[in-house]
Amino acid sequence: MDKRNEHIVIIGGGFAGLSVAKKLKKYPGRVSIIDKSNHHLFQPLLYQVATAALSPGDIAAPIRAILGKHSRARVLLGEVEKIDSGNHSLSLTDGRIINYDKLVLAPGAKYNYFGNDDWENNAPGLKTIGDALKIRERILLSLEEAEQREEPWLRKAFLTYVIIGGGPTGVEMAGAIAEIARRSMRYNFQNLKEEEIRIFLIEATGGILNGFPEPLGDKGRKMLENLGVKVLTNSPVTGIEKNKVFLKDEVIETANIIWAAGIKAPPLLDSIPAEKDRLGRIIVNQDLSIPNYLDIFLLGDAAHYKDEAGNPLPALASVASQQGEFLGEILAGGLPTNGTKPVFKYVDKGQMATVGRAKAVADIKGFKFSGFFAWFLWSAVHILLLIGFRNRLRVFIEWMWNYFTFKRGVQLITDRADCK
Ligand SMILES: Cc1cc2nc3c(=O)[nH]c(=O)nc-3n(C[C@H](O)[C@H](O)[C@H](O)COP(=O)(O)OP(=O)(O)OC[C@H]3O[C@@H](n4cnc5c(N)ncnc54)[C@H](O)[C@@H]3O)c2cc1C
Repeated sequence: MDKRNEHIVIIGGGFAGLSVAKKLKKYPGRVSIIDKSNHHLFQPLLYQVATAALSPGDIAAPIRAILGKHSRARVLLGEVEKIDSGNHSLSLTDGRIINYDKLVLAPGAKYNYFGNDDWENNAPGLKTIGDALKIRERILLSLEEAEQREEPWLRKAFLTYVIIGGGPTGVEMAGAIAEIARRSMRYNFQNLKEEEIRIFLIEATGGILNGFPEPLGDKGRKMLENLGVKVLTNSPVTGIEKNKVFLKDEVIETANIIWAAGIKAPPLLDSIPAEKDRLGRIIVNQDLSIPNYLDIFLLGDAAHYKDEAGNPLPALASVASQQGEFLGEILAGGLPTNGTKPVFKYVDKGQMATVGRAKAVADIKGFKFSGFFAWFLWSAVHILLLIGFRNRLRVFIEWMWNYFTFKRGVQLITDRADCK
């Protein structure tokens, strides 16, 4: 088909989808990008919104504004419900039907409650700005409640924070809450005593930060413990109820439960019958197409892409962005017709996680760092990766303010959540 008559539809304006769209700037055909929210979200800093360090606008930008100079991409706000690959069309929840010639699926992932979806109500995950504001609200409200209560059992529950999942998100949340509860907020609450505050990081396996090479997991654990976080490893959660987390031989009463344990594919992929892994992610070809659906591509967190050793690539922003750039280039240049397909190769530039204030662990191309230098690297990289000069400047100023004053700028309770 002549490219000028072709319609490429991209589902998802996250790291993967946006990178594809940016590469299609000079594409002669039509390009549409559909997202259920109107903004691109920099998820790696979402925990800072949840812990009152940053505002939502610091880490998100409207997709329309980001692609402003992109003459070809039409931005559509809407949630895709189903894909009808036979008819080359997709349906939105509001009933609209959109036809495509090539489809790029980049819908990201969902939190995985491992078959216990009813836990989600009491243990929200951190994925959207709405989630972050809800968690911020709970943290701040529980401090307010504890300040005014006399009953020891109530104070204890309000001042107990349980974070489930010892990956980077769980570690970053636990470290940031320790900072809020023990330093920033303590100055503002006369009735709170440091020894009353309990923070648990719960992990089912034997260690935390399992994606990082040793000794970074151990170092991260020590840094958290120095902040007063109780790290419970080999402790699978067996149940969650309102204000209660059940472990094998312990029940923790708490008004603050945060879920950060693992991901799974979104339900949208159910409409494509293809081989899936245990997380529901479709196992894609080396050019990111879906086997037997050569005009549908899948990338980012929702895709299972095997590296040279046969292991799936991790769910990281850098994987999603690089896949997006790769696919965008293929689509812009046209698929090769000589029978050889391009192969995506991930360039691992490393990974990092902060552990409280001014400390982090980092693994950069085999070089391992921890402590202040790792945090400095983390800060510099994240500021550079943020979209837009305004956001970079604002985040830099907020971090400097927080670093020198120990104060968190966004301690606002705007919509009273029920945290009792
Ligand atoms: C709290 C948190 C912290 C993280 N920290 C790090 C980190 O430090 N470093 C790192 O590398 N990675 C980190 N990640 C992972 C990283 O954010 C993801 O790997 C990355 O966002 C994946 O990009 P993506 O484009 O596949 O999906 P996403 O960025 O999730 O984008 C998916 C987009 O698709 C849209 N969408 C989904 N379903 C539909 C639908 N049915 N219809 C229309 N639109 C839809 C969504 O609204 C969203 O905009 C973190 C993730 C989280 C949640």
